[in-house]
Amino acid sequence: MIPVTKSFLPEKQAYLDYLDRAWNKVWLTNRGELTLELEKRIKDTYAINNIIITNNGTIPLQIALKLLGNQGEIITTPFSYVATTSAIIWENCKPVFVDIHPEYLSIDESKIEAAITPKTTAILATHVFGNPCHIEKIEEIARKHNLAVIYDAAHCFGVTYKEASIFNYGDVSTCSFHATKIFHTGEGGAMFCNSEALYQKLFYSHNFGHNGPLDFHGLGINAKISELQSAMGLAVFDNLDYIFNERKKVVEYYLNNLNFEALSTMKIRENTKWNYSYFPVIFNSEDQLLKVQQQLNQSDIFPRRYFYPSLNTIEYVNGETMPISESIASRILCLPLYTGLTENELKLISNIINLC
Ligand SMILES: *Cc1c(COP(=O)(O)O)cnc(C)c1O
Repeated sequence: MIPVTKSFLPEKQAYLDYLDRAWNKVWLTNRGELTLELEKRIKDTYAINNIIITNNGTIPLQIALKLLGNQGEIITTPFSYVATTSAIIWENCKPVFVDIHPEYLSIDESKIEAAITPKTTAILATHVFGNPCHIEKIEEIARKHNLAVIYDAAHCFGVTYKEASIFNYGDVSTCSFHATKIFHTGEGGAMFCNSEALYQKLFYSHNFGHNGPLDFHGLGINAKISELQSAMGLAVFDNLDYIFNERKKVVEYYLNNLNFEALSTMKIRENTKWNYSYFPVIFNSEDQLLKVQQQLNQSDIFPRRYFYPSLNTIEYVNGETMPISESIASRILCLPLYTGLTENELKLISNIINLC
């Protein structure tokens, strides 16, 4: 079976060596040495301003919205994983969708201002498939209208934009370290910010609001990662060069071998060092997508319809019509992309798609 993705697994012994440190100290969570080391390695490697590692990539969105959303209207993209929208609703805010750019696939910055009302408090945009939004324009709009900017950067581990980590942009950026993501801790995630004051708030919010054992700064929740997860993170982190290189080879194979007269892929924004996190192909029609999917399934190949449906159409969301997002969502398929995909497998996948 060829799935859309496979978690990268480090050598088991390398993972056990990290776990030994938790065993020896009998220390399993509450920001132990493995978590602190993982934070430091990510922070130093990518020159990140402030990082807090968390137990998944959804809670950081909720914490950011709790602190910056003020139960107002949040301008957001309809083309993302459901967590981007559900976090808004979960925090008693209202998602206000703005359609996407048909090639970059992220929120269309030229349509944001028309969606702003006196109730708007923040913009929550996704750098979808690791492809940056129009960061400068969004920043300019947010300043002009006094809005917070939160980036769902769940797909962005390793991405740089204009030579800086993509996590350094926006008031808060979040990432997911879920098993299906390019860098993972099994379950896990992180939040990033530039302001020291906001960092303090994010920090206490992720640990029940604690200010020492007997005092509280304010309201909080439990978003802490465990040492067992951080051990996996450290063992995966040691292999990042290999992971990025292997994925790059897969992406280059697709780019060189698929017939781009019958389909297209997303356009990467200028000044981006991308991370090869996903390989989406966009067909001319949903019928064509379904035909290709069926042919692939018959050969035991399982691409995924990321992202379908367009989030504005989910029943509990009930958003306005978003023609571009709905059209793209009905025609886009993410192809298998992981370390260890062989050239024969890639040939098989590409041949089936090109023959359809
Ligand atoms: C994976 C993902 C999330 C959620 O991350 P979890 O770690 O699974 O909670 C949020 N947003 C996007 C765009 C994602 O792909």
